[in-house]
Formats: sequence, structure tokens, C-alpha cells
Amino acid sequence: MATQAPACAIKKCETSSCATCHCCKKNLCLDHLKEHKDQLNAQLVPLANQINTFLDGLEHCTPASSSSFKELEQWRIEAHKTVDQFYERMCYELFEERKNKPMEKLTTIRNTLDTLIRKQGATHENIDSLVNDMQLIEQEINGLKNIQVNLRPLVIDVNSVIQSNSSNR
Ligand SMILES: [Zn+2]
Ligand SMILES: [Zn+2]
Repeated sequence: MATQAPACAIKKCETSSCATCHCCKKNLCLDHLKEHKDQLNAQLVPLANQINTFLDGLEHCTPASSSSFKELEQWRIEAHKTVDQFYERMCYELFEERKNKPMEKLTTIRNTLDTLIRKQGATHENIDSLVNDMQLIEQEINGLKNIQVNLRPLVIDVNSVIQSNSSNR
């Protein structure tokens, strides 16, 4: 005599099982085995739909759609401002500020000269002193025109943009 097949694992089903499902190891009758398979297969379509949704989402995922983009954009604007401010400061310190001294000296010399012209009282010492002062100022002006700057390219520290995405490890 053949041994009796175990009962179907589905509650209230009184039919004997005809097979054991490989995925869940349950003994099932033919009807319930079919129902079980249909239920599993029915889950495939929603998964396929989800894949399409994800693909669509990724396709439309641009930097601008990310919340961090605004922060990065703000960082860019601030960085440009910092570079501009540094440039302005260097322009002032290297060129504008250095013009002040020779300009002040020239004003003083011109006042002296005006007085001498008005009084028509020039001496040899006056002329020698004025010529000497003018030569020194000429050297200062030439120096201003030939200022050398050694510039190195600006290197951005990538660590200044810290990614904090815990799911991206
Ligand atoms: Zn199963
Ligand atoms: Zn059954």
C-alpha cells in the first residue's frame, strides 16, 4: 500500500497534497498549488512597474532637483565673491596704495616750486634738491609700473564639500 500523502497545508482544505512547493516547502493540493503560483506571479507586474518608476525618477534626477544643489550653488557664489574680494584687495595693496607716497611727495615739491616761482628766488641748491627729488620719484613711478607678482593657481580643497549621504556607503 502506498503511504498516504500529507494533507494540503491550506487551512480547511481537506484534499491530500499532490506536491511540495520548492520555495516555501509547503505541501499543497493541485488547486492550492496553482493558486499559490498565481499569487507569486501576480507580484511580478507591480515589481516591473516599480522598475519603470525608478528609471523615470532617475532620468529626471538633475542637480537642480536635489535639495543640496541650492547649497552647492550658494557655495559657488560665495567662492566667487571671495576671489573677487581678494583680487580687489591685491589691486589696492599692490597698486593704488603705493601711488599715495609719490603723489604726496609731488604735491610737496610742487608747493615748494610754486613758492620759488612766485618769489623768483631760486638758488643752485634749490634746483639741485628739486632735480634730485624728481629723480627719486621717477624711480618710484617706474617701480610701480614694473611690479612683479608670482601667482599660483587656486586649488580648491575637495574636503570643503562634505558629502553626508549615509545610504551611499
Ligand atoms: Zn511556495
Ligand atoms: Zn488544498
